Amino acid sequence: MSKTKGHQPLFDLCGGHAALDFVNSLGKRFREAGPVELLADYGDLLRFAEQTALLDTRQVRRLANSVNPGAAARALRSARELREALAATFYGSVDSHPPLAADIRTLERHFHSASEHRELRWEQPAESSNGRSGIGWDWGRFETNAELPVWIVSQAASQLMLSDAMDRIRACGVETCRWLFLDTSKNHTRRWCNMRVCGNRMKARRFHARREE
Ligand SMILES: [Zn+2]
Repeated sequence: MSKTKGHQPLFDLCGGHAALDFVNSLGKRFREAGPVELLADYGDLLRFAEQTALLDTRQVRRLANSVNPGAAARALRSARELREALAATFYGSVDSHPPLAADIRTLERHFHSASEHRELRWEQPAESSNGRSGIGWDWGRFETNAELPVWIVSQAASQLMLSDAMDRIRACGVETCRWLFLDTSKNHTRRWCNMRVCGNRMKARRFHARREE
């Protein structure tokens, strides 16, 4: 398996949350000419997990070196299945259009799967998130499983979906884009996924429209 495709960041990450950036890995999903697949292979999934800091470089390297092609292909299919169920649910929320029951069942299966593959451990202060010793969840022996990136995205997504931040999720105002993002602007008025790309395109379009009037 090829480990690198160069060092350019592959993902834009303008969503402001790993679960939204994950849905955005199918770009231009509502475009008539068809979407753009950014998760072309398992290596892309690892790069996504690393770029969003869901996994660290050591974990990514271990997976890249140990996962066999069959397991990698299954994990990629699983990742895309999760992504599409997340997309149905997030866009369902944004567009006030409930997702299908099958999408919710798919999410449920993925969320359960993520929580079933963790180990409860006793952590020393240096290892724990709050600086105290105590028990905490860890991927433990599952760290070398090809599905680790899928579980970790599932976990991030379930946290977001069950939080108040769901009210802040928006889709980009450019119809062919519609990338999801978390609107953390003060007045909740953000309209574009990325000001440099979609924001500028819309401003230019309005400018030309005015000149033609
Ligand atoms: Zn956009």
